[in-house]
Amino acid sequence: MEEQLLERLNAAALALKIQKPFDGRTTLATNKQGKKWKRRDPDALQGMVWHQELGWGSIEAVARYHTGPDSHLHAGGVESIAYTFAIRKNGQVVLCNDLDRAPWSQGYAGRKGDENAEFLSVMFEGFFQGTGVDDPSAGHPNDRQLLSGLVLWRICQDLWKWKAGDLYGHFLFGKPACPGDTLQTVVEAVRFNAPKKRKRKFTTVRQRQQGLKDCGFYKWKVDGLWGPGSRAALIAFQKECGLAADGLWGPNTEAALLGKLEE
Ligand SMILES: [Zn+2]
Repeated sequence: MEEQLLERLNAAALALKIQKPFDGRTTLATNKQGKKWKRRDPDALQGMVWHQELGWGSIEAVARYHTGPDSHLHAGGVESIAYTFAIRKNGQVVLCNDLDRAPWSQGYAGRKGDENAEFLSVMFEGFFQGTGVDDPSAGHPNDRQLLSGLVLWRICQDLWKWKAGDLYGHFLFGKPACPGDTLQTVVEAVRFNAPKKRKRKFTTVRQRQQGLKDCGFYKWKVDGLWGPGSRAALIAFQKECGLAADGLWGPNTEAALLGKLEE
């Protein structure tokens, strides 16, 4: 990351004046149902998930509902979500819970696991329009919230060395209404910039030898010299794939090798 950008982010972090006005369960060892809160390893966090308040009225109410002494249990019998940060309508970022608080297991189809053990959750104050929200009182996050959310994301992205694709919305975990249309668009725009997986190339002799070696056909040193060993390996590979075993490198051979290596 550019030095200049880092300086800007540090200045932004100071400007955000992250505060901790409430914490539902700092001193609680267990919740109302007597279950122990889980702890997670903050270093192991793999990304950030954006949420919206969804009509609770205040971020304090949500935090208390989810993590306070009167917290509910999820239908699955596990504790509810813990937000690490909330972003108020005035753009202020609030620390709701310590980083190692992760009380809720959910996971989703594309990724087995615990979204709160692995991800840092951020809640935007307000009730926003989104898929399945049929309520005229629902609005949109304002510019100050969007700016704070993006700055917070960039600060955390840099601290944890996350990729662009490590920003999620709750909709990606199976809750279509969260965090709502506007924030979903922002999340998708950020994720769109994630580096795409680049296809392997087999332009040079070395690349071809390495490719044949990676799938077990070339047993010798990758030396960049196309000799009898390389040729024999290529013919064996072509036979295995049902291609014309002519020892010549063509598009069919290349496609077959790519397919084999991606298996
Ligand atoms: Zn949510």
